[in-house]
Amino acid sequence: MADATTTVAPAPRARVQQMKEYHPPLGSRDALRLDFNENTLECSTKVRETLAQISAGALTRYPEREPVEATVAAYLGLGPEQVALTNGVDEAIHVLFETFLEADDEVLMPVPTYTMYEVYASATDARVIAVEAADDLQFPFDRLIVAITPRTKVIAIANPNSPSGSVATRAQLLELSRRAPQAVLLVDEAYFHFYGETVMALVGTVPNLVVARTFSKAYGLAGLRLGLLAGPADLMRWVRRVLSPYSVNSLALACLPPALEDTAYLDWYVGEVLAARMEFEAALDAAGIRRWPSRANFVLVEIGAQHAEFVRLMRDAGVLVRDRSSDPGCDGRVRITIGTRAQMRQAITVLNQAITMLRAESRQ
Ligand code: PMP
Repeated sequence: MADATTTVAPAPRARVQQMKEYHPPLGSRDALRLDFNENTLECSTKVRETLAQISAGALTRYPEREPVEATVAAYLGLGPEQVALTNGVDEAIHVLFETFLEADDEVLMPVPTYTMYEVYASATDARVIAVEAADDLQFPFDRLIVAITPRTKVIAIANPNSPSGSVATRAQLLELSRRAPQAVLLVDEAYFHFYGETVMALVGTVPNLVVARTFSKAYGLAGLRLGLLAGPADLMRWVRRVLSPYSVNSLALACLPPALEDTAYLDWYVGEVLAARMEFEAALDAAGIRRWPSRANFVLVEIGAQHAEFVRLMRDAGVLVRDRSSDPGCDGRVRITIGTRAQMRQAITVLNQAITMLRAESRQ
C-alpha cells in the first residue's frame, strides 16, 4: 500500500499513454526556410505598422475577440455566429475533435496528410481510419466513400493537401458530405490562396460542412497563431462551448483587420509564389527529379534512398527542406516550400549541386 514515503505518479488517460510526442523540427531555422510552408519573407507592412502602435497598456487587457470575429465573418460573407477565430488552425482542429468525437467514433482521413489530424484524434477515444492514396497521391475519393460507416463522425480533408499538393474537387467534397450526414466534414483550406478554389460559400447551406483557414501561410503570420473555423451556426455553438474565449491573443486580433485589408500585399505574395512554383517545377523536370503536381506553396519531390543526405546537404548550403519519408507511402520523398522567385533560384542552384553530388556518390 502506498504510504507517505512512496511516490505514485499520476497516470494519464490510457489513450495519452499510447501517444507519441510530436516534435516538428522547429529548431535552428536561421536559413532559407523551405521546410514548413510558411510565408518565406515577411507579412504586410500594414500589419507591421499596427503591431508597432500597440501600447504597453493595451497588453494589460484580456483580448476581445467578438468584434474581430464579426469583421472576419463579414469579409467571408457569413454571419458572426458562423465563424470562430482560433489560435491557429491547430486549435480549430483540436477543439472540433474534442467537441464531436465520442469513444469508438471514427475519424476518416486520406493519408498522407497534415500530421496534426492524427495527433489530435489520437488524444480522443475515437479511432483513426486512414485511407491511403495511390502512388500518384491524388485524392483517394472512391476509397474514402467506401470507408464511410455509421460511426464516421469527422472527415478531415486538407484542400489542397499536404505534403502532396493534390486537391479534392467541390463535387467530391459535396458527395462526401451527403454520404456521411452524421459526420462533420472538415475542409482545411490552409493553402487556399495558392489554389483559388474554395467551398466557403457553401458554409451554412451544407449542414455538416466546416471550413478552416489560417493566417500562417500566405499572410505570413505563423508566429501570431491565427486561424478560423466557419460552419453552420448550430454546429458552431457546440464548438464555442469547448473553445477558450482567451486563446487568440490581442496582438493577433489587432493584426487581423489590416491583414485582410491589404489585398495588394496578399496578391503580390501569392503571384510571386505561383510564378516561382512554375520556374521551380521546370527546374525539377530539367534535373530529372520526379515531382507531384501541386496546387499549393510547396512541391513534393522524389529523392529516393539518399533522402536524409539530400536534406543535410541542402541544410549545409543554407536551405531547409522537409523530409516526408515517414509519412505513409512517402519513403524517399522530400517536401520543398515555394518562396519568392529569387529565393527559389537560390534553392535550384543548391538543389542541383546536391543532386550532382548524390548521383556521383551512388555511381561509385
Ligand atoms: N492545416 C494544414 C493542412 C497545414 O499544413 C498546416 C500547417 N502546416 C496547418 C493546418 C496549421 O495551421 P496553423 O499554423 O494555423 O495552425
